[in-house]
Amino acid sequence: MDANAVSRAVALGGRSWRLGAMQGTAPGARATGRDGPKRVDSHSLGMHKVLSVDATLAPRDPQAPGQFGHPVAVPDGKQEEAKSRWKEGNFNVYLSDLIPIDRAIMDTRPAGCSEQRVHDDLPTTTIIMCFVDEVWSALLRSVHSVLSRSPPHLIEEVILVDDFSTKEYLKEKLDKYMSRFPKVKILHLKERHGLIRARLAGAEVAKGTVLTFLDSHVECNVGWLEPLLERVRLSRAKVACPVIEVISDKDMSYMTVDSFQRGVFTWPMNFGWRQIPQEVVEKNQMKETDIIRCPVMAGGLFAIDKKYFFELGTYDPGLDVWGGENMELSFKVWMCGGEIEIVPCSRVGHIFRNDNPYSFPKDRVRTVERNLARVAEVWLDEYKELFYGHAYHLVLKQLDVGDLTQQIQLRKKLQCRSFRWYLENVYPDLEAPLVKASGLLVNAASAGCMAVENTTLAFEECDVNNKHQEFNYTWLRLIQHGELCLAPSGGAGALGLRRCRAGSHSPTWLHRSLAASRTELTDHIVSEHLQQPACLEVDPSHKALRLNACDSANPYQKWHFGNYYAD
Ligand code: UDP
Ligand code: MN
Repeated sequence: MDANAVSRAVALGGRSWRLGAMQGTAPGARATGRDGPKRVDSHSLGMHKVLSVDATLAPRDPQAPGQFGHPVAVPDGKQEEAKSRWKEGNFNVYLSDLIPIDRAIMDTRPAGCSEQRVHDDLPTTTIIMCFVDEVWSALLRSVHSVLSRSPPHLIEEVILVDDFSTKEYLKEKLDKYMSRFPKVKILHLKERHGLIRARLAGAEVAKGTVLTFLDSHVECNVGWLEPLLERVRLSRAKVACPVIEVISDKDMSYMTVDSFQRGVFTWPMNFGWRQIPQEVVEKNQMKETDIIRCPVMAGGLFAIDKKYFFELGTYDPGLDVWGGENMELSFKVWMCGGEIEIVPCSRVGHIFRNDNPYSFPKDRVRTVERNLARVAEVWLDEYKELFYGHAYHLVLKQLDVGDLTQQIQLRKKLQCRSFRWYLENVYPDLEAPLVKASGLLVNAASAGCMAVENTTLAFEECDVNNKHQEFNYTWLRLIQHGELCLAPSGGAGALGLRRCRAGSHSPTWLHRSLAASRTELTDHIVSEHLQQPACLEVDPSHKALRLNACDSANPYQKWHFGNYYAD
């Protein structure tokens, strides 16, 4: 693997979904303007102001470390202990154990949220929280935050799915602790399912109308639940996500984040957060409390109608352990008639960390790569070439993604739209050119162009109106005219056109940035097919093309396409 491939592999394996965090404003800093004008109209029949349930409002010990979400410092003399315990969760486990499991946090909702109205007949929900070897205090704090800050009548149950944890405290000790909360149920899986199948195990036994998935190291903020359920009540095809706030992995402080963010992805399907540009906010007169349509959900925290989730075929059960499942569900929801929304009045803190603290049954990077390739094969249509073009090492190793028949059938059955539709309607700002370059392929020295005559390769005077001179340079590195691909033929530098073949079977060519990574051959077209690097060249007759030893100075080896869409 070359250095590029390595860095790409790493980029693929990682999931950086940290938002740009801002330190929380002091309590009361936003008090002004919070009590907006009261809406008293006929539409408010059968509705109520969002409930501000918070059992932690008057904390037992206001002086306790971390109270109100304030940062905590490791005491002198405890540094070593804190350091050594970090790896138990890849965050400051020592501090997590120090702060109260039912600490208060600041109400970080934008002004106006506490005045919003929701229906009296909101659906009930089952909270599903999967974990493997979660830190005791972090897990308890997650559960307590749900119980302390949710209207009890809306919580059907809280299902904790123990994904075959190895830690002893997550067995009888946890059962015993939770037995005092009748709504909390624990499912101890008998083998490691991985996050994706563990969630499904929880979903299958859930009794609530809505499934609300949460990670096992979160803190739900006041009023978090009703706004989510309100969206699902409005339409069962809405998948509602809270704003994910940041619990610092270092000092355990609770930090709010900017509201105007969307979940997006960049090639090759790396999830990320993108700020909505200020112009867009102004042009649309967006308010901080407005629902945000979200091309991709972060994955960990969302509410979905249970029946709808099963109609969508849940997650692809062929996805392993962790990663890519947020892409899969996002594409499926949008392309099959649903919507993904971020609900700014619903806020949940999450401990972001740099690495997963648990082991992967198989290699982590490979697992995520395979998951993403499955998603690409099922959902991306012709755009899967962009995925593979940006993760070319997957093409080289001819990754086995397993059986996809069920998933492809499901997509047909649900009559889902095309990925092109998704791009045009849901994520129009993603750059997704189907080829890297196209148009005439012009030689720098002779100003002649590559052409197809009948089905043979030719070199002619350039003519922009001549369709036979149009070629594509594809993400899979082919130089292509319709079904025909440029290919070395026979020995002695001969070249020809051959029917293109799927996978990595057609001869590939390096050009621009791809060629530059080898030598100074950016304008050249270098064959990857041969033992020795060889370059596309106009032969001395100036009427034919051939392959020859690359020479960076030779203008007969320099080429450019009419249009470049990506480098
Ligand atoms: N998880 C699980 N089984 C696994 C991997 C993860 O139950 O094989 C749980 C994990 O404990 C956490 C949630 O799934 O509650 C999401 O995982 P994680 O927090 O590591 O993902 P991240 O937040 O880093 O994306
Ligand atoms: Mn997490």
